[in-house]
Amino acid sequence: MEYYDVLIAGGSVAGLTTARECSSNGNSTIVIEEDHEIGTPEHCGGMVSLSGLQKLGLMLDSNNFQNAVPVARIRSKSASFELSAEKQNVIVVDRRGLDKQIAKQAEDAGAQIRTRCTFKSIAKKELKYAIKTSDGEIECKYFVDAKGLGSLKDASQNGILASAQFEVYAKWIEGKTVEILFDSDKYPGFFMWIIPMGDGRGKIGVAGKGINTSVALHEFIRSKGEKYSIIRKIFAPIWIGGPRSQFVFDRTLVVGDAAGQTKPTTAGGIFSCGMGGVLAGQAISNAIEKNDDSLLYEYEKNWKSMFQKEFQSMLLARKVLERLDNKAIDGIFSSLSKKAITDVSNFSDFDFHSSALALFLKTKIATNLTKILIGNEFRRVFGSRKDDDNSIHQ
Ligand SMILES: Cc1cc2nc3c(=O)[nH]c(=O)nc-3n(C[C@H](O)[C@H](O)[C@H](O)COP(=O)(O)OP(=O)(O)OC[C@H]3O[C@@H](n4cnc5c(N)ncnc54)[C@H](O)[C@@H]3O)c2cc1C
Repeated sequence: MEYYDVLIAGGSVAGLTTARECSSNGNSTIVIEEDHEIGTPEHCGGMVSLSGLQKLGLMLDSNNFQNAVPVARIRSKSASFELSAEKQNVIVVDRRGLDKQIAKQAEDAGAQIRTRCTFKSIAKKELKYAIKTSDGEIECKYFVDAKGLGSLKDASQNGILASAQFEVYAKWIEGKTVEILFDSDKYPGFFMWIIPMGDGRGKIGVAGKGINTSVALHEFIRSKGEKYSIIRKIFAPIWIGGPRSQFVFDRTLVVGDAAGQTKPTTAGGIFSCGMGGVLAGQAISNAIEKNDDSLLYEYEKNWKSMFQKEFQSMLLARKVLERLDNKAIDGIFSSLSKKAITDVSNFSDFDFHSSALALFLKTKIATNLTKILIGNEFRRVFGSRKDDDNSIHQ
């Protein structure tokens, strides 16, 4: 019978960073991935900050680099503003290549990666787990569920949105500007995005409650009235419901999308899910080294101390957004002062953007709406009206 200290189901950013941490601490580690190739099919826009990559232990590999995006244009139906993202060093990477880069790190550290191998079931066998896979049974001491949204879907349906993203060739796609378009009629509860890849190429995506994402994207692209080609289409759900309350169950750890570790505002997860993997791998390694399984809970504690507060603000912003109509969104965007926009450009962080959200949520319109909708919650997360006066510049 094959035996490993750690078996990880799911070979994407969260599973692979877990594997790298476990194996680099000398633990026998296997990753099983049901798809035939690591990184494929790619379900991602690939937007990430350079500092996020560094925290994940990754150097930017020029083969994976697609573009730098120093500007973000945020639009509503009849208002718009631009943020400079120069200081945040936001880039677009090829997710296929990024996942392979982490797979190579894990392999170099001693992990084994097995593609076309599907997790089927888990059973406890004294102090071990017996994992049934499409390639037979494997035993392990620690099991990591990094299977993505499929695992979360079993736990909860709330927070899942359908999304689509097309890779498009079109001259009107600007080289260096990421665009976010809010329209509560067309994309209720979320938005449309354009991630430029340079040279007239981009990833155009959309999500929204109860919408036909394919129709919405086709309509938007056609509305430009110019020639285009769609060279790739992906349809995948995103998670905006916040983290699970528990990540550790006995000697099983849940990481990444499977644990709800994507940002509730944008559904971005490369950094926060990857950190889930790093922290889980470190906790497992400590537990093995010290022969103390209570140390597994350090993973949950450390991830939550890094992200919980941020995610709470993002969940609150999401609640507000879901209740705003186009008129209110227009009102908020057009009431933003130059100073507020400059402050966000200069001081906010791509990975931890609650300070930016606070600035927008504290505009008069949003504050009034928020007070009515969820007053107490707003005050708990962002502080009192007195604080507002110090930080809002309208
Ligand atoms: C359209 C779209 C655009 C996005 N854009 C961005 C972006 O620009 N920036 C950003 O930061 N995030 C983005 N995200 C989110 C990001 O892609 C995810 O948060 C991230 O990939 C989560 O990583 P993960 O390892 O937790 O899960 P996943 O990447 O979902 O990986 C789970 C893995 O488990 C495997 N698996 C599933 N079931 C089994 C099984 N039974 N046995 C074995 N293997 C199994 C799957 O094949 C998959 O490889 C986007 C998501 C979508 C859908």
